[in-house]
Amino acid sequence: MADHKYVYFFGAGKAEGAADMKNLLGGKGANIAEMTNIGIPVPSGFTITTEVCTYFYDHGRTYPAELKAQVAEALAKVEAVMGAKFGDPTNPLLVSVRSGARVSMPGMMDTVLNVGLNDETVKGVIAKTGNERFAYDAYRRFVNMYSDVVLGVKAAHEKEEDPFEVILEKKKHARGVKLDTELSAQDLKELVAEFKAMVNERLGKPFPEAPMDQLWGGISAVFESWNIPRAKSYRQIHGFPEDWGTAVNVQSMVFGNMGDDSATGVAFTRDPSTGENYFYGEYLTNAQGEDVVAGIRTPQPINRTKGAPEGMRTLDEEMPELYKQLAGIRETLEKHYRDMQDIEFTIQQGRLWMLQTRNGKRTPAAAVKIAVDMVGEGLIDKQTAIKRVEPEQINHLLHPMLDPKAKRVKIAAGLPASPGAAVGQVVFSASDAEAWAADGKKVILVRVETSPDDIRGMNVAEGILTSRGGMTSHAAVVARGMGTPCVAGCSEIAVDYANEQFTAGGVVVKQGDWISLDGSKGEVYQGQVAKVEPKLTGDFAAFMDWADEIRTLGVRTNADTPHDASVARNFGAEGIGLCRTEHMFFEGERIKAVREMILSDDIETRQKALAKLLPMQREDFVGIFRAMDGLPVTIRTLDPPLHEFLPHVDNDKDIDGLAADMGLSAAQIKAKVESLAEMNPMLGTRGCRLGLSFPEITEMQARAIFEAACQVAKEGVKVIPEVMIPLVGHVNELKLQKAIVLRVAEEVMAAAGVKVDYLVGTMIELPRAALTADQIAQEAQFFSFGTNDLTQTTFGLSRDDTGKMLAEYVASGILPKDPFVSIDEEGVGQLVRIGVEKGRSVNAKLKVGICGEHGGDPASVDFCHRVGMNYVSCSPYRVPIARLAAAQAALRNN
Ligand code: PEP
Ligand code: MG
Repeated sequence: MADHKYVYFFGAGKAEGAADMKNLLGGKGANIAEMTNIGIPVPSGFTITTEVCTYFYDHGRTYPAELKAQVAEALAKVEAVMGAKFGDPTNPLLVSVRSGARVSMPGMMDTVLNVGLNDETVKGVIAKTGNERFAYDAYRRFVNMYSDVVLGVKAAHEKEEDPFEVILEKKKHARGVKLDTELSAQDLKELVAEFKAMVNERLGKPFPEAPMDQLWGGISAVFESWNIPRAKSYRQIHGFPEDWGTAVNVQSMVFGNMGDDSATGVAFTRDPSTGENYFYGEYLTNAQGEDVVAGIRTPQPINRTKGAPEGMRTLDEEMPELYKQLAGIRETLEKHYRDMQDIEFTIQQGRLWMLQTRNGKRTPAAAVKIAVDMVGEGLIDKQTAIKRVEPEQINHLLHPMLDPKAKRVKIAAGLPASPGAAVGQVVFSASDAEAWAADGKKVILVRVETSPDDIRGMNVAEGILTSRGGMTSHAAVVARGMGTPCVAGCSEIAVDYANEQFTAGGVVVKQGDWISLDGSKGEVYQGQVAKVEPKLTGDFAAFMDWADEIRTLGVRTNADTPHDASVARNFGAEGIGLCRTEHMFFEGERIKAVREMILSDDIETRQKALAKLLPMQREDFVGIFRAMDGLPVTIRTLDPPLHEFLPHVDNDKDIDGLAADMGLSAAQIKAKVESLAEMNPMLGTRGCRLGLSFPEITEMQARAIFEAACQVAKEGVKVIPEVMIPLVGHVNELKLQKAIVLRVAEEVMAAAGVKVDYLVGTMIELPRAALTADQIAQEAQFFSFGTNDLTQTTFGLSRDDTGKMLAEYVASGILPKDPFVSIDEEGVGQLVRIGVEKGRSVNAKLKVGICGEHGGDPASVDFCHRVGMNYVSCSPYRVPIARLAAAQAALRNN
């Protein structure tokens, strides 16, 4: 049997891999293979598959037996293509060793460059290039990087200086120069020796000289880096499985630092921040790739499409022919991949090489614009456009921006690296950001530059501000991926870590001070600037219209006030799926009347209290019906446990006030309150049980609903009330409550002389309701699944007490996700399915929806689609997310 294939070669226009092999070759490896095959110049190399990574971890960090020979064979092919030999002192081949998982994890894993250099081969490099300075520059970079990544020689903590940086600074100081580029070949040669001596001293063993040892050290380090903390955090944040593993790409080095005819850069085929269709990128002449992303030198734009800072040259001016070639490759790649690409290139002595292409990360706004534009350009169809945008991404488009009319004091400006508004308190380290955010504070992380180790702090920050680095710096790329507003390269601020402050012009901003960022403009303001609601217009509106054309599931909202109702309507809600009337009971003066009602011993006093509430409830409904003119409004009768309305027995002021109002003694009130206490209130006198104990409450609510309906109907509003009875477990509960609603509705309409069409239905939120849904459907005109309570009662997990425990369950893998966030299809979902099927077995046209929190969760929306619901209902800000998720569900499942 032939050996299992672990190594895939690419070079000289031919590759063994292809773009659709991402799972095996990683995203980078698959795309390098694809570029090679479509005739784009790529330095030759080979990819070691993700299977080797899995093997490595499953077998005590060892490799499959075949691997060594396969690597040797592929290396020989690379040597043949490149006309150089790995480890050869006269004509050495140098390689890079890079990670590449199936999805890009920018900067999270490790890379080693210039592998193959030692005191012998460096002479070969000098002979080949005639450039001693270049050779020693590559060599000192290699010793630095290899020692850091492979041998673990680095700063021990955030505030310690990098040991190589210390030696380098000392050298520059001794030579009286400021820039690395001012150091001579001899200086760099000395640095190599000094670096190695320091490594030897720290590790007690010498730096590895044999190129093959270096190569295998690099390969192992990259596989190891799959499991370093920042990579693990990144996977956790993005929900990527641990068992994917990374591939390793070994590729011939090309150099952007061989002189002024060399350069290196990164570019996006469209603007990743706004989505605009122009060639966007940054480069540096005479530099290595890491210089562009590391934010050490501020890079130059590749063209002047969006202007360029004074005195800066652009690539199309410096190297017009090569720019033209690069622009041609941009076209080829976009046509080939039909998506915006993020590319890396290097120009070595006048020759262009492509090092990477991948679907570019983009802001939510850019994601929508690119998808819409590409449909217009005929590159993709509407369905593909809809699939291109993650529902959660558009969340960021729905949240407030800085109010253009608000007063502000601008203190600095930098690059608009990731759009949106952020208002928060300044912190200067990722760990402080985490700690402050854990205390519920809103923070803005301010750094000179960020590194992959800052990932957790960046994730909890409202916004990110850096003083160094370009639009493709780490901070910018990661912030855009997270949808976090970011101002990068803000050189007008001076960050002073030691004193935990930064200065901008004359202003000193200390840790804990408030600032505001406008990531779309790249501006920094002092203090807290007011925010405003966004609007659904332009490309976004067009995009959402396509989603509506595609989806079959309706989308309603959970709203209790006219304001929420109209926000949701603007976001495209097609009705209210849940109006929780209890919120109206807690407001201001109302709570007093509610307490009187509950505490009264006789029906007359209770009726009196209810009579006070009736006009207030009616006004609530009038406002909501007007806001939802023409759309259905599901109003639920009272739900929460009784005692939630009652005063605390220790609150003398409340108790005495009530006693005075009701003509009772404080002791009597206290005794009554205590008698109503329950051990398990969530399983006690709640939901329809309240209405069954006190039918007058249901009666008052029904009266308020129908009086409001008749009133607005007379004004010409098209009102469609749907009255919903909560927490039904037995059909008889529904029967009794429904009888009250029907009677009151008919009485009110007869008195008003108006006829309004209405429905009476129920929530299915108890397992018994789901299991007896066929009986319940005989009394209900619609079902709405209350998956919050259904999850609580199916798992027997209190929805109010188990947040922390469930987080631990998810972290330890007991549960794949929090079932209160995303529906547990196997358990709770099975009850939903049974409920829908049994309900429809009695009434084939039964209208079925969901109003638990799951109605706004994309994975749960997909489930609701599959189970055949008519609509989902979610909070106002999640309505567009649910619309997009519903469209994607239709595309996925039909
Ligand atoms: C539910 O239980 O899912 C529901 C929507 O009702 P509430 O959250 O008000 O209990
Ligand atoms: Mg409920």
